[in-house]
Amino acid sequence: MNPKTMFKLSYGLFVLTSGFEGRDSGCIINTAGQVTSEPNRISITVNKANFTHDLVMSSKKFNISVLSEEASFDIFRHFGFQSGRDTDKFSDFKDCVRSVNGLYYVTAGTNGYISASVEQTVDLGTHTLFIASVEDMDVLSDVPSATYTYYQSSIKPKPEKPASSGKTTWRCTVCGYIYEGEELPPDFICPLCKHPASDFEKVS
Ligand code: FE
Repeated sequence: MNPKTMFKLSYGLFVLTSGFEGRDSGCIINTAGQVTSEPNRISITVNKANFTHDLVMSSKKFNISVLSEEASFDIFRHFGFQSGRDTDKFSDFKDCVRSVNGLYYVTAGTNGYISASVEQTVDLGTHTLFIASVEDMDVLSDVPSATYTYYQSSIKPKPEKPASSGKTTWRCTVCGYIYEGEELPPDFICPLCKHPASDFEKVS
């Protein structure tokens, strides 16, 4: 069995936004897809560590903003590499408006948004699977959607060679975070993007 086969699956990239009792937040996910057309339903899977997960659980509604090939790395950094528990991601974020359901969606670097209401949740341990009915949606641009492969090749900054300190370093292949140490602990979680040790590569 070749575990690299999983990389042959294609993924889009999305800003998931939700809000509850006056708190708004958002995070990056790669797991949105249509699951039925009559009625129109989508599914998303969200890591429970994300603050936005709890907002979706409480409010039972969310928006998906579809990231396009014009999305800047800043959008990924803003929504992906910090937690809504510690910071209000919308206090200084201008490229967003509220849709009919009262939640924000992102208007720059995106090509469409979908508003959905949660019908079912499935507890998957680390993640929750949400199945939701589509309530509203609109196309924002004709720029192609960004895939995870496109993010890796064209949006994420090219890694700089870390200054040779003589120490062994490991790089997070998702966000570029550098860990210094002879061995990367198997339960290590990237402090920036929260991806696991399996997403790190040995640099030197
Ligand atoms: Fe990372």
